Amino acid sequence: METLSFRNGDEMPILGLGTWKSAPGDVYDAVKIALQAGYRHIDCALIYGNEAEVGRALTESFERGVVDREDIWVTSKLWNDAHAPENVRPALHETLSDLQLDTIDLYLIHWPVAQKPGVGMPQSPNDLISLQEQPLAETWSAMEDLVDDGLARHIGVSNFSIPKLRSLLADAERYAPEMNQIELHPYLQQTEMLSFAHANDVHLTAYSPLGSMDRPDAMKSDDEPILLEDETIASIANEHDATPAQVLISWGLHRGTAVIPKSVSENHIKENLAAAKVELTETDMQVIAKLDRGCRYVDGSAWTIGDSPYTMANLWNA
Ligand code: NAP
Repeated sequence: METLSFRNGDEMPILGLGTWKSAPGDVYDAVKIALQAGYRHIDCALIYGNEAEVGRALTESFERGVVDREDIWVTSKLWNDAHAPENVRPALHETLSDLQLDTIDLYLIHWPVAQKPGVGMPQSPNDLISLQEQPLAETWSAMEDLVDDGLARHIGVSNFSIPKLRSLLADAERYAPEMNQIELHPYLQQTEMLSFAHANDVHLTAYSPLGSMDRPDAMKSDDEPILLEDETIASIANEHDATPAQVLISWGLHRGTAVIPKSVSENHIKENLAAAKVELTETDMQVIAKLDRGCRYVDGSAWTIGDSPYTMANLWNA
């Protein structure tokens, strides 16, 4: 499989398996099926509440000789309640213990949002801490320590805007962020971010590449467009004898971003992997470029409740 190269020469397989919303009970089989089918990259996070089960699937796959640890890439993410520097290492220790790994390949600051320790999702503005009180640069410094201590091979961020990424690139003392994992699909193409990341040697990972239709109802709006039902995507899929999901994944791969579709269905897991073989033409890419409509399925409104220090404007544009 194609890979993205990191500064020290490490290679991240460009297509991975997402695990958000993959229920305990499902994710164990999904990871085992994915590794057996040829996936070599699994995207995890402590907040997904299923890392222990992912860990059981990984260990069993190592023991049965399906893959070796060195052949797979595992990403996880620091939750918002552990941004205080003294909480960063314990959070990664919990993740590593659950995943049954000694080191994580890539560890990301999940959101540029800080919460009080122990808060999963904020219920009131009191659960949130402003970035003035808990600066991202301090959290980053603790992330850098994880690399020095061999607990994380690479570090990066997620859901960072261009200004936040630019400021972190300037503040980082020992290791610049190597990844920004963000929502990317034809309805949210983020071309400015793509250029900025490229110019600054930061890779991008495309999350919710299929439009995240299984996210909680509270995160959905009645009139949102359904990406997997887009007619233009369907007609390109027909021309390539592919499925709409495969075209969406292939589009992300053609832009040089990693893509991490989530699935717990064996058929979808295999179908999504086969997307790497779908060769979109320059014309296909030009036609899909016109579908951009600035549509965020994961809009971060959970952090903007009441008189929260976070607003849509300062989350995405500042
Ligand atoms: P997604 O991958 O865009 O969509 C998942 C949905 O698509 C599920 O309902 C899945 O159902 C379905 N699906 C999968 N393959 C399909 C296929 N071939 N045909 C039709 N439907 C298909 O959504 P996502 O989970 O939001 O994003 C992917 C991953 O990105 C996450 O799991 C997570 O690892 C990561 N992520 C990160 C962040 C962040 O803040 N960093 C935010 C969101 C997501 P089945 O399971 O039944 O196949």
